[in-house]
Amino acid sequence: MKKGRVIQSTGKWYKVSCDGDIIDSRLPGKFRLDKKEVTNPVAVGDYVDIEIGDDGTGSIQKIHDRENYIPRQATHGRRGEQILVSNVDRAWVVQSVKQPKLNTGFIDRFLVTCEAYEVSGGVIFNKMDLAKSGGRAHVQELSELYRSLGYETAITSAETGDTDDLKSKIAGKTSVFIGPSGVGKTSLLNQIEPDLKLRVGEISSYSQKGKHTTTFAQLIPLSDGGFVVDTPGIREFGLVHIDKPELSLYFPEMIEPRQHCKFYNCTHYHEPKCGVIEAFEDGKIAASRYNSYLNILESLDR
Ligand code: GDP
Ligand code: ZN
Repeated sequence: MKKGRVIQSTGKWYKVSCDGDIIDSRLPGKFRLDKKEVTNPVAVGDYVDIEIGDDGTGSIQKIHDRENYIPRQATHGRRGEQILVSNVDRAWVVQSVKQPKLNTGFIDRFLVTCEAYEVSGGVIFNKMDLAKSGGRAHVQELSELYRSLGYETAITSAETGDTDDLKSKIAGKTSVFIGPSGVGKTSLLNQIEPDLKLRVGEISSYSQKGKHTTTFAQLIPLSDGGFVVDTPGIREFGLVHIDKPELSLYFPEMIEPRQHCKFYNCTHYHEPKCGVIEAFEDGKIAASRYNSYLNILESLDR
């Protein structure tokens, strides 16, 4: 019996990465749908034990408990949801300092989704080479803000090859990178792993048999033992369904202040005796964060 990681699924077959080998494996019938809360019994990202047969293919014998997972659609804790990828160490939102302009709203919306999925979040500030001194200071400040909230951050330039900090933070881990187009995701990944395209190609050539596989996530093994999640079509995390009074639970800096609100269902927007508004007025909650909170709150109306 060997322990491995499911890096791709085509429905019937699973590719399992096992001590550097990739073993095509099947799932014996006994496993199917005995876990009713999700529709796929084995997901990309799962750790599994496999038994290798005489023909070199594997048979999945055990699925290890999942640390977390990102659902394919932005439902939240609903039964019957499908897993996009499991056991993610960190989901990183990528922003560029310029071209396109840095967007804290995008960052904060993403981090709310991370909180809802119970996936650690991170923020990458790329294209630092384009920043002037004022811009640099602003990025440093933002980076410190997000760190103080418990999120990992990295300041990079794919252009100058300044990616060592990020490299060390994703070493051996399973990472998702999400961001608008043009911020430098592809450039960063090519810096981190120069033959990454090759690896993507190796795995996709296998998947051409089943065309639906292109919408599934796959894990791209990195040379240091880590993985990057390749999620075709996913540029943005959809915001999960959240009830308005719950939204502040996904802003770490609001968790303590919200305990001082007079109304139990306070939305921290207009209510009197609101602990969150007080914390904001006392400078304990950053203006950009409170602003994002209000924008997301408003979007929950619809
Ligand atoms: P993606 O859409 O997020 O994958 O972005 P790309 O990696 O395709 O990059 C978009 C453009 O930004 C390309 O022209 C890159 O050469 C450029 N770019 C990426 N990273 C940097 C960087 O750190 N500094 C500068 N100046 N340009 C960058
Ligand atoms: Zn309040």
